[in-house]
Amino acid sequence: MMAPRHINKVLSQIPTWLMGVIICFSFWGLFTSFHPRTTPLPDQTIDRGVSYYVADSEETSINTVFSLSDRQWTSQQNDSLFSPIDNQTLWLKFNLPALDPMDNWLLEVDQSQLDFLNIWFLENNNILASYFTGDQMPFRSRGIAHERFLFPIPQHEKSDLTVFIKLSNELPSQLPIHLWRERSYLVFNGEHNLALGLFFGFMLAMAVSNFFFFISSGSTNFLLYSGYAISVTLMLISMHGLGYKYFWPGNIWLQNHSIGIFASSSLLFALLFIRQLLDIAKYSRVISRSLEVLCGVYLICLIVSFTTDSRLAANVLMLFVTVTSFYIIGAGIWLWRAGLKVSRVYALAWFTILMTALFASVHGLQLYTSDFAIRYILMAGTLIETLLLALLLARSFSQQASELVDAQKTALKQEHEARLAKERIIEVQEEANVELEYKVQERTLELEITLRELEEKNQALEALNTIDSLTGIKNRRFFDKKYPAELRLSRRNQTELSVVMLDIDHFKKINDTYGHLAGDVCLHHVAQMIKNSLKRPGDEACRFGGEEFALLLPQTDEKGATQLVEKIRQQIAQHTVVYEEDTIQLTVSAGICSAIHTGDDEQTQLLETADKALYEAKQAGRNRVVYKTYSKDAEGS
Ligand code: GH3
Ligand code: MG
Ligand code: MG
Repeated sequence: MMAPRHINKVLSQIPTWLMGVIICFSFWGLFTSFHPRTTPLPDQTIDRGVSYYVADSEETSINTVFSLSDRQWTSQQNDSLFSPIDNQTLWLKFNLPALDPMDNWLLEVDQSQLDFLNIWFLENNNILASYFTGDQMPFRSRGIAHERFLFPIPQHEKSDLTVFIKLSNELPSQLPIHLWRERSYLVFNGEHNLALGLFFGFMLAMAVSNFFFFISSGSTNFLLYSGYAISVTLMLISMHGLGYKYFWPGNIWLQNHSIGIFASSSLLFALLFIRQLLDIAKYSRVISRSLEVLCGVYLICLIVSFTTDSRLAANVLMLFVTVTSFYIIGAGIWLWRAGLKVSRVYALAWFTILMTALFASVHGLQLYTSDFAIRYILMAGTLIETLLLALLLARSFSQQASELVDAQKTALKQEHEARLAKERIIEVQEEANVELEYKVQERTLELEITLRELEEKNQALEALNTIDSLTGIKNRRFFDKKYPAELRLSRRNQTELSVVMLDIDHFKKINDTYGHLAGDVCLHHVAQMIKNSLKRPGDEACRFGGEEFALLLPQTDEKGATQLVEKIRQQIAQHTVVYEEDTIQLTVSAGICSAIHTGDDEQTQLLETADKALYEAKQAGRNRVVYKTYSKDAEGS
């Protein structure tokens, strides 16, 4: 796969103008290779002055011809000899000029395809040598095993060697007869064979390499091209007589049909190749259709050429090719203008074929005569056509390859872009995620701070809630919570809890006497006195309401509580309150009750007992402390 792509790429990069230069160079090379200075020419051409006699049938024998009078022979008046038309036999009679006896001499009938060719060399009416050959006879009948009709001129003593030639051919064709020195012919033949070898080598290389391209790439374009190259090669091999010499020396039928068969198949392959390669249907349905019709015509030609003699088929084909070429060149130019750029090369290729076909046709139709054999012209045309078609193939193949590469590149690019976009999305998502996470963290932190602040505020509020603003000690709210808690602790720990109710004596009177503001100062004074007297951390003093205070003394029995409260009472009694100019004497009464709380009791029992003790203290004259024992029926005691 790699090799054809590389070669095609290189070929496709050759610009058309360079191809033109190469073509001109090939033509120039072909022409100059047969330059008289370097390539020997025949010593003499037998044409003007030759006597000829046209017999009606092939049956005429040499003896009959011998007996003809000189009047019955006609002298050739122009330079070109032609073989006779069908069913006629041409007799030629000429005397050879004086030949240098130091050299060997050859007589050449420069025509590879003649049906029957008999030749006699006579000296004084004695036959020195005779050859009976032609395409209707096996190759071994040739005088010399050479692709053209070549006969050695026998050694002779006198100079007047007479030659009789009997010819019959189905179609008229040019008949150049040359006299060669053997050594000149050796050199000429060497150069001629070199040119042929190069040409057929090139054609074979094209055919074989394209066949391998077909095998490796599977593209039928290569197969059609290979078929074309092989057909053209075989056609020219047939035209040069090489096929008969090397490939089918005993096969008379093939020798008479090969040119027609291979010419038809060449054209068929060329048209099929063009039609398939250029995808003409895309540009013009009419041209595509007409090409198909032409393919059909050449297919019929191919079939017919199996039954028709080669030279007839070839001549008909030449006419066909001429007409076809005009049409195809026109179509090529039209397609070129319609946008199919490569058809420029294709038109050029067919132009060369047209030129050579025209030349060959004119030559075949006897309008133009030249020493230059038609074979060389066809070779040159074929060479150019083959090169141009190879260029076309290479262009199309490399275009397809580059289109494929382009498509792959585009796909890769799109994939890359898609991947980039995807990566960008992921990146953006990640960024968003990070930002979101950061924001959540920020918010969480803010929330935590707020919560903490709230908690702190709550705590402060809670603390504030439990403080009595006037006295600065715990309030009734606090007491209501603390009292049941202390009861539970007492029960669990089985420790005595003392509850004290304390009330300022005759406080109404103080208010009335000194005013409410003085009363407030007194309340604050008493509260501070109580608070300062409590030393244990568990002891709590609360303002119970008005000028009443409640004390909770955990793990304190009757004795301890009585001592403490008595001390408080004394201290309050000893310290007067100074308010403005007044000195206010205060006393307090207190009731105490201590007990280990049991689960069966009413919660309020202890407190009520203490309150009763306070009542008793008031009753007993105030400014005193009364302890009342806890009992279930405390109300009664
Ligand atoms: P007793 O010896 O029987 O306790 O006599 P008392 O005057 O203290 O008795 P009572 O309980 O009837 O009077 C309480 C008075 O305390 C009523 C009110 O004038 C006064 N008082 C209650 N709360 C406050 C307060 O917050 N500030 C002031 N200045 N006086 C208060
Ligand atoms: Mg009171
Ligand atoms: Mg009072």
